[in-house]
Amino acid sequence: MKDKHCTNCGHAVDSATKYCPNCGNDAFQEIVNDRERTNRSEPQRVVIDQAGCLVVLLSFIFPIVGLVLFLVWMNTRPNSAKAVGIAALIGFLLQAGGFSIYV
Ligand SMILES: [Zn+2]
Repeated sequence: MKDKHCTNCGHAVDSATKYCPNCGNDAFQEIVNDRERTNRSEPQRVVIDQAGCLVVLLSFIFPIVGLVLFLVWMNTRPNSAKAVGIAALIGFLLQAGGFSIYV
């Protein structure tokens, strides 16, 4: 009685038969197990890529600090690098503008 279908090719297969007569593969292999295995084998490494408020504030007050952090984090923590980079740039521009008024 061909009441099942091959999980590999979809060909109607006798449920008593282990191997598919059409493609020759294991007709009832569990695809779900395979999918679960791939999900489990790759545990996602969670890298906290978010610059703290204090670091951003520090970069704003001392743009040179932000610049250094930006260069250090550029490859490993792009989001943090961007945050401190922008803070440093704004801080630098504001301070440069402030100095130019007094000079
Ligand atoms: Zn098959």
